[in-house]
Amino acid sequence: MPLSDAKTDDHPYWVRVVVDLPLQGPFDYRSDEEISVGTRVIVPFGRRKLVGMVVDCPQVPAHDPDQVRAIESVLRDVEPMEDSWLRFARFAADYYQRPLGEVILPALPQPLRRVSDYQGKRSGAGPVARLDKRRVAAAQPLEPGFAPALNQAQQAAVDAVGAATGFAPTLLFGVTGSGKTEVYLHAAQQVLAQGRNILMLVPEINLTPQFERALRARLEPATGPGGVAVMHSGLSDGERLRAWLRVRRGEARVVLGTRLAIFAPVVNVGLIVVDEEHDPSYKQQDGLRYSARDLAVWRARDLGVPVILGSATPSLESWVNAERGHYRRLDLTDRARDVEMPTVRLVDTRRLPMENGMSPQLLEAMRRRLDNNEQVLVYLNRRGYAPALHCASCGWVSQCPRCTAYTVLHRGQFGGHQLHCHHCGYQRRVPPACPDCGDQDLQPMGRGTQRIEEHLAELFPQARVARIDADTTRLKGSAQALFDRVHAHEIDILVGTQMVAKGHDFANLGLVGVLNADAMLFSQDFRAPERLFAQLMQVSGRAGRHTGHGEVIVQTGYPEQTVYQALARHDFAGFARHAMREREAASLPPYSHQALLTAESRELPEALAFLQQARASAEDVLQREGTHELVSLYDPVPFRIVRVAHVCRAQLLVEATQRSALHTLLRRWLADLNALPEARRVRWQLEVDPLEI
Ligand code: ADP
Ligand code: ZN
Ligand code: ZN
Repeated sequence: MPLSDAKTDDHPYWVRVVVDLPLQGPFDYRSDEEISVGTRVIVPFGRRKLVGMVVDCPQVPAHDPDQVRAIESVLRDVEPMEDSWLRFARFAADYYQRPLGEVILPALPQPLRRVSDYQGKRSGAGPVARLDKRRVAAAQPLEPGFAPALNQAQQAAVDAVGAATGFAPTLLFGVTGSGKTEVYLHAAQQVLAQGRNILMLVPEINLTPQFERALRARLEPATGPGGVAVMHSGLSDGERLRAWLRVRRGEARVVLGTRLAIFAPVVNVGLIVVDEEHDPSYKQQDGLRYSARDLAVWRARDLGVPVILGSATPSLESWVNAERGHYRRLDLTDRARDVEMPTVRLVDTRRLPMENGMSPQLLEAMRRRLDNNEQVLVYLNRRGYAPALHCASCGWVSQCPRCTAYTVLHRGQFGGHQLHCHHCGYQRRVPPACPDCGDQDLQPMGRGTQRIEEHLAELFPQARVARIDADTTRLKGSAQALFDRVHAHEIDILVGTQMVAKGHDFANLGLVGVLNADAMLFSQDFRAPERLFAQLMQVSGRAGRHTGHGEVIVQTGYPEQTVYQALARHDFAGFARHAMREREAASLPPYSHQALLTAESRELPEALAFLQQARASAEDVLQREGTHELVSLYDPVPFRIVRVAHVCRAQLLVEATQRSALHTLLRRWLADLNALPEARRVRWQLEVDPLEI
């Protein structure tokens, strides 16, 4: 039968469908009814059934029509996804080199992509109908919320964003406490008044309650009740589906969320905001390894709308974009509340008698602040009691049996101690004696937040001490409860990791003490100084936000380092200049573009052998393309922590002076990788624009 007759004979429609499988796809199916692009369908796949999405309706199938299977059912409980959303998904798939189905389906709420929610005993009319049937109590409207009059710099920023037409990327460079939130809120009000909607990203789940309250109080008068939807990974399936549907249906006009919200199906977008745009949490670290910040800029460009990237410590990528004139930079150079920036003191720990990791200067300053009824934050980016346990007589150190890493000593809830591996989750009780020499005197090595908390409670018996880190905030709502207690001044001394460093507007916090910052100073990763500077500047920015006279004490053995010197001057621009010179000289991002191929296997040589073969194959591609002068291939190397959970890991770095040369290589190269002889023995993945190397 000639292909052209296929359709006239029995009038089938052909649809091209993507599914969530690590296969390139899409796959062709037959349908008796017309289905528009963006519609979900249930299709047979091998012996399974899967939810997929129609991404194309070709005239003829790619294969013999007689072999093409029929779709099983069409899911019409949600409007087809918009073209602009599909375009966005296509871009992400192409840019990050993943099959389209692995972008589209994970971006939908679980129940919308689970066959069992549609077929089976209890599925009924499907998850959407089930949800719509429940009557859900509407959230109580909040008080409209007090809006301070904008200062000049804020007003100028709001005006500039409002005056922009079309795609207008803005880097809002505002010191900590400069009132960036007010700028977002006013810009959002303008956009809502034009009848358009807003997508706003924050880096941390813990920041969503604070922002949600502000957005609801200030924007719901314009959107009506329920006009703000929140999306983050802490929601249950049902909550996420409900929020997603309200967004898809245009009922929620403001979407606030963490990185995954960049895939929210917001309609009629008029503004995208990325707060703390430098934050590494915008990078997804598995599956589709996207940068929500970068995707936000792409989405804004595609939609022709303004995007605001806000930070006191912008990423060097965004900074360079501003320097080159690709982004417009708007500065807020002063704190909004008419208070000065905190003073930063560098305390040289090399010649000091330290008490449990704390200098006399820090303890003295803490005493003063506590006497003055102010709060103190002690920052240490290392959770647990101590980074390791060791035996003083023979040198034994607690090592994870599954990883090339130490196990971390933790104090258990009921007093006993355990050893935890932070890489693979392995746990054991503390051995009663040294496994090597039998000595019973095992000692903690170094300090984590638990040990500091314990010590501070002894030193300041009158003070109420609390700790905020990943361990104390595991339960849903527990982080918020702790932050609420800090805001209510039920806590005097707060010990915390980087969870407390970002975004929070503490009213009564006078002093920040930074312990052991040097750990990141000599890291192999070329981004470590940038990240360290941002962390320190952010945590410093928590001091004296409302009442002024803020003070920061940084304990370091290397006070002369640029990172610390620039920090003491609050000089981001100076730090950036220095860092950019180094990057330019070494031709590192943002002066080049990178991709990282990683391989995992039981034995390290297998992973390395695969990467060697991959390197040779990339060289072939470059020769063929004539682009070997634009792209460098590094030697495969093991990860710094080479083994995690018995799996060895190695990486191959690819670096290009031109983005297009990199992507051309990746496209050709990826197609060849699975055919390499060693490919069967490893798991590999590719990351575009890796943040950690
Ligand atoms: P950041 O720029 O660090 O995100 P915030 O948006 O948290 O700063 O604002 C810092 C503090 O300044 C908040 O307590 C906020 O309420 C207050 N604030 C912001 N704008 C003004 C203003 N124009 N007048 C007075 N206070 C303001
Ligand atoms: Zn021993
Ligand atoms: Zn481990």
